[in-house]
Amino acid sequence: MNELHEKVGCIHMHSIYSDGSGTIEEIIDAGISVGLDYLMFTDHFNLKPIENGYEGWNDNLLSLFGYEHNDMNDENHYMLFDMDKVMPKDYTVEEYVKTAAKKGALGIIAHPDEIRSHLVSYPPYPWTHWELNGFESIEIWNQMSHWMEGLTKWNKVWRWLHPRSSLITPTDRILEKWDELNLQRRISGIGGVDAHQYIHKLSIGIKVKVFPYKVLFKTIRTHLLFYEPLNPGDHVIDSKNRFINAIRSARCFISNYKLGDARGFRFWAETEAKNYNMGQSVPIPEEGVNLQVILPADAVIRFVYNGKRGGRVTGDSATRIVKEPGVYRVEVYQGGKGWIYSNHIRLEKEDSNES
Ligand SMILES: [Zn+2]
Ligand SMILES: [Zn+2]
Repeated sequence: MNELHEKVGCIHMHSIYSDGSGTIEEIIDAGISVGLDYLMFTDHFNLKPIENGYEGWNDNLLSLFGYEHNDMNDENHYMLFDMDKVMPKDYTVEEYVKTAAKKGALGIIAHPDEIRSHLVSYPPYPWTHWELNGFESIEIWNQMSHWMEGLTKWNKVWRWLHPRSSLITPTDRILEKWDELNLQRRISGIGGVDAHQYIHKLSIGIKVKVFPYKVLFKTIRTHLLFYEPLNPGDHVIDSKNRFINAIRSARCFISNYKLGDARGFRFWAETEAKNYNMGQSVPIPEEGVNLQVILPADAVIRFVYNGKRGGRVTGDSATRIVKEPGVYRVEVYQGGKGWIYSNHIRLEKEDSNES
């Protein structure tokens, strides 16, 4: 599986085109300075950066633009890529999820399980319409939701100063939901930074930047895998389609860069006939399927089968022979914190594949 080509970047950020404080140029520079390969912007109800010519390559970094939609109650935030225009603000959730699906856009549920009560001006924005099925992906780890959920008046100052150390793991609530959804159909998982770079005015009149883009770009990253190389300068629309396809196909994994550069992680399934990647379905041969994991550094690896975590394996690789149908994914830990989350590989009874 080493022949796959990997692009590492951040998804979900806001610029001055909505409620972020940074210009697109400033955000791109921040991405380049920390070595990202791509940025996927999601300003609220705004696709103007595309009209203004921002979509494309700067040095080795590709900037792509979608937007974030929400309902009239400011709930059910939905990130959309490849929409030709912003949908009306008074659409119901059902209307915007269905319309986007019909147009072939990629819909990603943002911060689906937010719970928080500590900041009056930042209420939670959870997803409340799981009965709809036009979405193809969910944000299983969101830097801002995570940061705000654990906030108390005691740790507030420490957390303002150390946003990266506050990250532990995605919530079990969302992981359980994600596993449950995948038993029905493929729903890819991505990580989001939800970066805004808030400007906070201190009582002494000095303005400080809270969660600068550059700091958040060193937290939750989404690694996308491609069968063919993708190079700076490649046609922008083709590249965009390939990025969207990698997410939609669940050929991706999530990492927390604070715990180490996860480039090189791979999770795949081997049978005598062929290899399968994350996001794919494997017909189970009689001798079983060999699940394989490799890591760029030693860590604790856990296989997760239909939402149940298996035992811990320490090292830079792990294998497991499995025969049971269902969905398998991998979690990797460093020092008790979540470092890498793979997408699922589905195993299916061989005859169920023939119809
Ligand atoms: Zn949102
Ligand atoms: Zn957002």
